Amino acid sequence: MSESTPNDILSWENLIYIADFLQNSQERMFRILGGEPTLHPQFNSMVIYLLERGFDVSVFTSGVINDNVLHEMGSLFSQLPPNRLTFICNLNDPDKTRTPIAEQEAVRRFLRTMGPRVLPGFNIYRTDFSLDFLFKLINEFGLQRHIRLGIAHPIVGKKNLHISLDQMEKVIHSLFLNRPMFERMRVKPGLDCGFPMCKFSDDQLAWLMRYTGGKSEFGCGPVVDIGPDMTVWPCFPLSSFHKRSLLEFNSLREIHEFYDHIHQAVRVEAGGIYPECDGCWLREDRICFGGCLAHNLRHFKDELPVRMKEMYQ
Ligand code: SF4
Repeated sequence: MSESTPNDILSWENLIYIADFLQNSQERMFRILGGEPTLHPQFNSMVIYLLERGFDVSVFTSGVINDNVLHEMGSLFSQLPPNRLTFICNLNDPDKTRTPIAEQEAVRRFLRTMGPRVLPGFNIYRTDFSLDFLFKLINEFGLQRHIRLGIAHPIVGKKNLHISLDQMEKVIHSLFLNRPMFERMRVKPGLDCGFPMCKFSDDQLAWLMRYTGGKSEFGCGPVVDIGPDMTVWPCFPLSSFHKRSLLEFNSLREIHEFYDHIHQAVRVEAGGIYPECDGCWLREDRICFGGCLAHNLRHFKDELPVRMKEMYQ
């Protein structure tokens, strides 16, 4: 925090503007992210404000939360209906990551305090992973029986650890090694964006559809992120792609239409992450969206600048 500048902290004025903007756009969900949102000195007060304005609030957190803030959260929010305030907590496998003991204990305190409000998440950034540690935490702290599974995608304009295209099948293989535990623990897998449908076998797709009640999607599209400085961008991997100011738009729909148009322009240049995406009937029928757009934009940057100018902004 010592290095943070005022721009990194959402002001009350901007929060109120965004709340007005979303309510005028008939959006009832308010999703709060960071870095780590609970580091904001007004975090609890801002959550109360949003709840009192009728928003259902969802907080993406690492679970590493200052004890005083966590204690106050526990007393403030314990009586709230679960759907009004949920926490999506991305958890790391302590056996596979060098997470300091102090952080692991902080996460356990958070899970103990907020257990039933917590939807566990796991970001897949390597091919050899196991979810056993997550099933154990779900059971121990009574977390929601759903795991949000995200793939670490490339970030356009940056160098980050991510799953490459030729690693997708290994990732799906590792995921399905957890199938027996999903069934025994009655936990549902939730696929986040950018999974290529064709890399799943028919048996795996059938299990996913049956087990998630047909809720598995193979999407890629603008989720719309809003920064503390009121800039907007399509999603995390595209956080520097066609950045705009929220003040340029009158509604959430206008922002989605703006970025949908750009997504379509990229999909004209390249249908998806694989050459076979062009002409794939699953993409034509919008069953699979062709994987994460960030892969295509990175490819464009590595080649001669022959594409439409929108591809390079
Ligand atoms: S659109 Fe591309 S990623 Fe999706 S199923 Fe077709 S070929 Fe696979």
